[in-house]
Amino acid sequence: MDMKNEKLQEYAKLLIEVGLHVQKGQTLVISSPVECAYFARLCATAAYDVGCREVVMNWHDDYLAREKFLRAEDAVFDQVPQWRQHFFNDYANQGAAYLAIDAEDPEHLKGVDPDRRVRSLRVSGKALKDFYRLQMSSGFPWCIASIPIHSWAGRVFPSLTEEQAMESLWNAIFKAVRITGDGQSVRHWQEHLESLSRRKEKLNALRFKSLHYTNSLGTDLTIALPDDHLWAAGNSETPAGVGFVANLPTEEIFTAPLRTGVNGTVCAALPLVNNGSIIEDIRFTVREGRIVEAKASRGEDVLNAAISVDDGARYFGEVALVPYDSPIRNSGLLFYNTLYDENASCHLAFGEAYPECIVGGERMTREELNAHGLNHSLTHVDFMVGTADLSITGTTHDGRELPVFRSGNFAL
Ligand code: ZN
Ligand code: ZN
Repeated sequence: MDMKNEKLQEYAKLLIEVGLHVQKGQTLVISSPVECAYFARLCATAAYDVGCREVVMNWHDDYLAREKFLRAEDAVFDQVPQWRQHFFNDYANQGAAYLAIDAEDPEHLKGVDPDRRVRSLRVSGKALKDFYRLQMSSGFPWCIASIPIHSWAGRVFPSLTEEQAMESLWNAIFKAVRITGDGQSVRHWQEHLESLSRRKEKLNALRFKSLHYTNSLGTDLTIALPDDHLWAAGNSETPAGVGFVANLPTEEIFTAPLRTGVNGTVCAALPLVNNGSIIEDIRFTVREGRIVEAKASRGEDVLNAAISVDDGARYFGEVALVPYDSPIRNSGLLFYNTLYDENASCHLAFGEAYPECIVGGERMTREELNAHGLNHSLTHVDFMVGTADLSITGTTHDGRELPVFRSGNFAL
């Protein structure tokens, strides 16, 4: 077997055994672009190898998604058929593992009516409520990972031929997911998760009251944190105590902001691919948590649509720390894919907060989570804010100011 095939099989095995920790007798749902079928098959085989009950597929396709948004009857965007609600909600309620193979042309929905996109986001957010609620609160193991497709690779490596671009993106992905050819990726991941966890413990011990971000792009933002916030990283745990890694790769340590405690200006450091379009130079003005102005040099209509999905979409749900000097950033590549770009940069998200980011949050009702200051929304959109000159200063409850980030990297 050649090297590439060995690495592909190792990757599939890593996703099933470390990403999802698939248990004997558990169902696995895989969402995959049709172009990635060969890799979805390897993942299914790896799952059956560990005793998976059944692998169920949810295929999708950029071309068909675009055709639908451009040409389907308008009423389609306000409805989710019953069978689709059952598919996602029933498997989520059963605790099935969920693997999303994330690969798309970053601009496959360019020029589509933003109103159709927002309506379809709203309606699917409501119809698939159980699925999203359980996903956000670690109710079932889930993992998002990527493999190259031609349209995406061509965007990352515009000066290369199609085949060279695919090869280069594969190499960058293998590197980021720590598949080096030594067959030891599971061990590399255990070590990596332990090192993220040590840093997380340090931040949890400090219990910051607020964080103040500044850089030369014009970011000057204060973020208050809930009293009982928790930093999280890498590993999550289902109610049955099974560990899973929701993003592969993952380099971040994250928590939730206090819903009404964010004030100032924040500027994005990298372009954002959202809903099949590219948004550049995002600049948000925020007052008491609410985004009161949203500017962008490109895709401003898409950005404004994204924050108008519901009221919670105008508030922040995540604060994540990633050093500038990190493996994905050091690759020097802009991936035009949020899974990769967010793990190369400090980021924030507008929309839903993760209940695991406060003490006991995963067992709280929606009302309790609201009372603890966690934001609620049908959406959750990460955008990158980390630059080489980013400073973050933390203020503790007894008024001490400590450097958290200096010159883009951890100072703790
Ligand atoms: Zn994040
Ligand atoms: Zn996020």
